[in-house]
Formats: sequence, structure tokens, C-alpha cells
Amino acid sequence: KSAPNDLSAFWMPFTANRQFKKTPRMFVSADGMFYKTGDGREVLDGTAGLWCCNAGHNQPKIVEAIRQQAGELDYAPAFQMGHPKAFELATRLCDMAPEPFEHAFFTNSGSESVETALKIALAYHRARGEGSRTRLIGRERGYHGVNFGGISVGGIVNNRRHFGTLLAGVDHLPATHLPEKNAFTRGQPEHGAELAEDLERIVALHGAETIAAVIVEPMAGSTGVLLPPKGYLERLREICTKHGILLIFDEVITGFGRLGSSFAAEHFGVMPDLITCAKGLTNGVIPMGAVLATAEIHDAFMQGPEHMIELFHGYTYSGNPIASAAGLATLETYREQGLFERAAELAPYWEEGLHSLRGLPHVIDIRNMGLIGAVELSPIAGAPTKRAFQAFLDCYEKGVLIRTTGDIIAMSPPLIIEKPHIDQLFGTLADVLKTLE
Ligand code: PMP
Repeated sequence: KSAPNDLSAFWMPFTANRQFKKTPRMFVSADGMFYKTGDGREVLDGTAGLWCCNAGHNQPKIVEAIRQQAGELDYAPAFQMGHPKAFELATRLCDMAPEPFEHAFFTNSGSESVETALKIALAYHRARGEGSRTRLIGRERGYHGVNFGGISVGGIVNNRRHFGTLLAGVDHLPATHLPEKNAFTRGQPEHGAELAEDLERIVALHGAETIAAVIVEPMAGSTGVLLPPKGYLERLREICTKHGILLIFDEVITGFGRLGSSFAAEHFGVMPDLITCAKGLTNGVIPMGAVLATAEIHDAFMQGPEHMIELFHGYTYSGNPIASAAGLATLETYREQGLFERAAELAPYWEEGLHSLRGLPHVIDIRNMGLIGAVELSPIAGAPTKRAFQAFLDCYEKGVLIRTTGDIIAMSPPLIIEKPHIDQLFGTLADVLKTLE
């Protein structure tokens, strides 16, 4: 049963991963800002689980809502039938989203939200008689989940090269990350906005009438906290509008307060045509995602019952009652506790603490925005990722959870974090960096 399998190449602790079994790191419970390990230690959650537990762990309102809903209505078919909480959640979600977003399509994860958004974009053009618009454009170092559409538009070659031809007709904009020009910049970098012009180059190459959508994370999270240079998103928006191309913001990480406002679209003042979200929608407690659409896109996509039959899309668990109840309680918790405002208020303290790590051994860049931050380390020659991974292990031993991607350490705490936790997080990381080889 414990025979090694091919999945051991992936970072998947739930498979028979021999490497993981040698050094098991198990969480058995969690409360507020802390996890508890199998051997009874407390670990400060510096990453909100996987960027999702924005309200911290074990929030009473969310726990109670799930309990109640499970006893009241456990499941309702998503087709032909509905239930009130899904509609209520869609309404609340659109209320907190920027103005033009009036409709929510529910999914069960970030990856599914991405697939759904790409399909909506293609169907939208087709419904308008522009069925030639089938090409999609992503960005290098973009991450859009692990399903076929998502890895096709995603900008991580390693995530797609094992899987054949994937989606045809995909181009990638260059990554905007220019460390040599922007190292240690606080907040949005000054340099790199001109890279948006590459979109014009791609449009000229294929013709605007062939391009359906551009998908980007407004701030790329899981590939290392890569902030958009000033003017970049604005320019992408202008070019897309000029050529009738839809702009999709993948807000799976940036949604729900991490940057200090409900969505990054609001934070940057740039409105896309579709927003994908997940993670913080239910505080990470129950799988759920959503795609937010403007009325125009929704109406073109949903052209009455006949069109819907032809254009089948939806999941068994779309708008699941228990997930919807968890989502409602989560949004209510964010509002009651003012967590998005709190993220904005704490951001300067977070920035100070993070940038105090400058000058420590191996630190070659620091990036921050809202309650998110990254520390990039110089790689060990011939052993990339090793140094950051060692930092992760050492921090864990000292009771702090960080996350690493390549040689980048990323931190994205629950928004309930307090100043002493911020001190603990950066203090521990500083101690670890000082002793790192
Ligand atoms: N898009 C973005 C921007 C993400 O960060 C992630 C997950 N880190 C996904 C999509 C995929 O989400 P999931 O893991 O829920 O499928």
C-alpha cells in the first residue's frame, strides 16, 4: 500500500509520498492565529492556510452556520432547483464586489472558477456573433490552478509540459517582475508597465478578431508575490477595451480583503470584465469558488433556456447549501469584524516589519502590499529552492508557518493578525535567516 507512486514528484502529502513520511508535519487543530501540531506545539499561521483562512481559524459564526445548515438542508440539486442561501450569497457577494459585477456563477475551487471564466468568455463572444474569438492570453509566471484551461493559460512551464498539447491558441505576456530595477521597492514597483504593450504585439500577430480574453492575476501570488508595476493593469485594460477583448482578473488570492479592499480590482481602480475567486469566499473552510460577471456578459451568456441546454455548464456542488451557509457567515464575519479595513490599517506596520529584514544574509528582494509579503533569497548554485525550504523548516521548528515557492518566502496571514504576531513572524524569520547557510 505504501509503495512509491508517480505522484511523489508532486508536493502532495496525502499521497504515498515517501519523502513526506520521513518528516511528517501534521496539524491536528487550529484556533484564531494558531495551528496545533500532532506533538502538541503551537504554530503561528503566517500564511492563512493556503492564502484562504482570511478570518483566522475556528471562527464561531462560520462553525455554527455549517452545523446549522447541515441539520437543515444538506443538499439541493443545482439544476432546475435552487435554495435560498445560494441566492443570498450571490447577492451579498455582488454587493461587496465593485459596481459593475451583478452576477455570480458558483464553483468549488479556484481552478474551477478559472475554467468557468474562460468558458464564459468564449461563449460570450459566440453569443454576440464573434465566434472567431477563441484565442486566450495569459502571462508568464501566472498561476491559474491545475486544470487543463488553467495550466494552458498559466505561465509555469513545468506545470504544463507533461500534459500534451493542452488548449490550442494560447499566448503569454511577459512576466512583469523586474527585480534588478525594483528590488526592495515598497508596494507597487515603478518599472515594468511598458510590458503591457506586448499585448498590442500579440494582437497585431493574430488579429483582434481571433482573441477572446486576457487572464491575469492582478497581483501574482503563488509564484512569489509579484506586484503589478504602476500603470500596467491600466494599460492592459485600455488595450483590451480598444480591441473588444475581455479582461479576466484571477482574484483567487487577492479577493476578500488581503490588499485592504474587497477585491484587487477596487484596490488598483481597474475594472476587469470577469473576476474569479475562491479561497477566502468561505474562509477556506469548505470548498467553494465563484466567477463574478457584469450584466452584459451574463445576459449574452445566458440567452434563455434553449441556449442554456445547448451551453451546459455547472457542477453537482455549485452553490451547495452548506458551502453557501459557510460563505454567508464568512462574508458576515469579514464585515462585522471590519477585517478588510483592518488589513489596510495594519499594512504600514506589516511593511515596516517586513522591510526590516533587508540586509540579512541572502536577502535579495522584499515585496509587500496589504497583508501580503515576500522575501526573495539568493539561490544556492545548483540547488535552487533549497535555501528557502530550509528557512521554512527552521521557521516551522520555531513555531511559525511560512510558505515557499522556489527561493521566495511568501507570507499572507489571517487578517485578524495583531501587531505582536507580526513581530513574532518577522522576528522568527530574522533569527532563521541569520543562521541560514
Ligand atoms: N488561481 C489563483 C490565482 C490561485 O492562487 C490559485 C490557488 N493558489 C488557483 C487559481 C487555484 O485554486 P484551487 O487550488 O482552489 O483550485
